[in-house]
Amino acid sequence: MSGGTDISQRISVLTSHLTSSSPMASEKQAALVATPSDANVPTIFDKIINKEIPSTVVYEDDKVLAFRDITPQAPTHILIIPKVKDGLTGLSKAEERHFEILGRLLYTAKLVAKQEGLDDGFRIVINDGPKGCQSVYHIHVHLLGGRQMNWPPG
Ligand code: AMP
Repeated sequence: MSGGTDISQRISVLTSHLTSSSPMASEKQAALVATPSDANVPTIFDKIINKEIPSTVVYEDDKVLAFRDITPQAPTHILIIPKVKDGLTGLSKAEERHFEILGRLLYTAKLVAKQEGLDDGFRIVINDGPKGCQSVYHIHVHLLGGRQMNWPPG
């Protein structure tokens, strides 16, 4: 039985290598065409925060919102964002006044990972800037899980 499980895990890793190229390519294209925006320019995430467009919210409090990514790269793929951007278009814009919200985003990722049953592990990603493949300029933490991750990342 354990041999069968091992083989199916290997097949799943191979399949993820073989099938991930087109979503990854489109994410990269989206990131390359995205213009790093000014701090005050609203993004699609403002519409999600204001419930002007639908999203699948998995966690919400007065400071942060967590919702499922519309183009999931793993069985569990959740974005955790601050409700108030406060200049944080990306991590590279972080200043000392952001200590609390940055910690809260990561702590929320841990809470949501537990809520999603990702007890065997998960991955946190923060893309920054065109070379970091960022496409939405409102800081967000990606929480990915539910499959074996690979290293190095693409
Ligand atoms: P990044 O490329 O790191 O900037 O991540 C932006 C993420 O936002 C991508 O993974 C997109 O799939 C996701 N995204 C864009 N629009 C929506 C939306 N309306 N609802 C949920 N996720 C979205």
